[in-house]
Amino acid sequence: VARKRFGQNFLTDDHVLNSIIDAIAPRRGEAMVEIGPGLAAMTALLLKELDHMHVVELDRDLVTRLEKAYPREKLTVHSADALKFDFGALPVPEGQKLRIVGNLPYNISSPLLFHLAEFADLVEDQHFMLQKEVVERMVAEPGTKAYGRLSVMLQWRYDMSLLFIVPPTAFDPPPQVDSAIVRMVPTRRKLAVDGATLEAVVQKAFSQRRKVIRNCVAGMFTEAQLVEAGIDPGVRPENVSLEQYVALANILKPV
Ligand code: SAM
Repeated sequence: VARKRFGQNFLTDDHVLNSIIDAIAPRRGEAMVEIGPGLAAMTALLLKELDHMHVVELDRDLVTRLEKAYPREKLTVHSADALKFDFGALPVPEGQKLRIVGNLPYNISSPLLFHLAEFADLVEDQHFMLQKEVVERMVAEPGTKAYGRLSVMLQWRYDMSLLFIVPPTAFDPPPQVDSAIVRMVPTRRKLAVDGATLEAVVQKAFSQRRKVIRNCVAGMFTEAQLVEAGIDPGVRPENVSLEQYVALANILKPV
């Protein structure tokens, strides 16, 4: 029985499952970790291609089931909260990076994405099922309604693309919303800036989306500093690019 508080919607559509595995394209010898394996719908298919993988699951009943269903040589089950899990502690073969996958619990998607961003340097790529609206915010361009804190902070660290949309009927029980598969690859051309400062600036900028940027960041930046960062003080925060937010953060705390 699915537990609502754990955000459990189990994937049951074989076509969707196969499309996800095709997108991930697992290869023998890779270091793979899945967040929230649940009843192992994805795990089982991934393990056909891999000798071994790690999973992180919060629900202890599911942990017990997984430990019974798979031998330890194939599956390492971490009974843990992914929000607190140290992904940097997972063993990764020399010269390789970690691949992270998961049909994520939607109620914790933003904090989980921010937690994972701390490990971006150790990661090869991430493939996640998320609420479609969240994926749209992640990949949004400046000047659109969906563009905000999630877009700027994640685009600073990852190149991202929405791969395909998944309807509620692919799950049991069906969620209320459409879902989408997103691919996230840590960007090789990460702009130099202090992450905490960028976060503080972006949070302040988007705290009042309908005001112009001059008013949003009043007290933090003068109008002259906005101009110095290449920003027109009269535009809304959604019209300021990642590069411009980075320039602004570098005025506050140069790196
Ligand atoms: N991967 C399975 C599938 O596709 O059928 C289950 C997906 S379900 C949407 C989310 C899974 O994440 C559940 O198994 C749930 O118990 C687990 N989960 C919820 N919160 C979690 C957390 N904080 N850390 C790790 N796993 C969590």
